[in-house]
Amino acid sequence: MSVNANPDAGARTWRDLPAAQQPDWPDQEALRETVAELESYPPLVFAGECDQLRSRLGAVARGEAFLLQGGDCAEAFDQVSAEHIRNKLKTLLQMGAVLTYAGSVPVVKVGRIAGQYSKPRSKPTETRDGVTLPSYRGDSVNGFEFTEAARMPDPERLKRMYQASASTLNLVRAFTTGGYADLRQVHAWNQDFVKRSPSGQRYEALAREIDQALKFMHACGTDPEELKTVEFFASHEALLLDYESAMTRTDSRSGKLYDVSGHMVWIGERTRQLDGAHIEFASQVRNPVGVKLGPSTTPEEALTLIDKLDPDREPGRLTFITRMGAGTVRDRLPTLVEKVTASGAQVVWVCDPMHGNTFEAASGHKTRRFDDVLDEVKGFFEVHKGAGTHPGGIHVELTGDDVTECVGGGDEIFVGDLHQRYETACDPRLNRSQSLDLAFLVAEMYRD
Ligand code: PEP
Ligand code: MN
Repeated sequence: MSVNANPDAGARTWRDLPAAQQPDWPDQEALRETVAELESYPPLVFAGECDQLRSRLGAVARGEAFLLQGGDCAEAFDQVSAEHIRNKLKTLLQMGAVLTYAGSVPVVKVGRIAGQYSKPRSKPTETRDGVTLPSYRGDSVNGFEFTEAARMPDPERLKRMYQASASTLNLVRAFTTGGYADLRQVHAWNQDFVKRSPSGQRYEALAREIDQALKFMHACGTDPEELKTVEFFASHEALLLDYESAMTRTDSRSGKLYDVSGHMVWIGERTRQLDGAHIEFASQVRNPVGVKLGPSTTPEEALTLIDKLDPDREPGRLTFITRMGAGTVRDRLPTLVEKVTASGAQVVWVCDPMHGNTFEAASGHKTRRFDDVLDEVKGFFEVHKGAGTHPGGIHVELTGDDVTECVGGGDEIFVGDLHQRYETACDPRLNRSQSLDLAFLVAEMYRD
């Protein structure tokens, strides 16, 4: 298929609506020039791939598959390296193998990757030692360093976001289709890890079983092509509408608009105003779309979101990513699930057990407890079991590196360890060992 960049095609109705959380670009002319240049760039993904993901998510909505969505809270330009990308991918592939094998369910794998560069903030400015500067809004907008120069929004960064996304996606495509993701590599993904961690050892045992199963299949004369590559999709929060609009193109096959900056995009908790530009934008593109739902979400809001984003009640089109908090999920989620189900919509229900469970440790680090993360997922499963609906997946912030940002896990990180490798530019992520622990525990919940 092909896409063209005709900016007049389709209905760009979001342009006239109020958009929350947009940067104060100091130079509007420079912004216009950047947007015009972005509009001329090639798509990062094809519309047909977005359709494929929508159809895979349709299977999740029907209860036939499970969604694993994960990656950084915020990607950073200086982390676009083969090592970082490979580690992240490896972690997701290992989690995918655990969930598929131990949970006995097909797993749709979607990274928070190749575009996750923009962050909503609770405050527009930050003050340190009496100095007030604009908040860091992600590498697509300004720099993390606390200086006036770094914190000034710069539209040139939008082009860097495109380039960083393109090189990341290129490597991801190479890794997932070029042999690295071949299921016969299940052991290789774990090589650097196994001796050091309890979850690595547990994974090794599972990999041995997978190996046995593969050898058995081979001996029976079957060697399916499907096991040689992995279907992997890219997603990010559609936050900066200047960028997302510039990357939105008309699909020549269907005449419909697609945001070709990623396969799936979601609208965050802070930008999901029903009459705002973000929801309008999501309603006009044909990609599968997600919306984060926090504890204040009313059933009426959820139903209006469905009417706007999924008027045809198409399984796979709309994913609700609930992020209630471990202490709240069992109270807030049941009514939402019940009312949405009664409306006849078949949304994908996904649990983000990260964003409702953040707190500040005495050391000043923003962190999360592994046990809270796990408890929210447990609550999510309980609620769906009670309602007779499908717990469709998990959405997690993770990295493949051995960081110390969240406390707990089998290879336990203590509050006193947080300073050792606290590298996130935004929210605390599960490290590789904690991510694998979570995959094993979720697989058990799925099976039970
Ligand atoms: C995020 O996913 O990083 C995020 C900001 O989440 P939320 O919109 O749910 O707060
Ligand atoms: Mn986050």
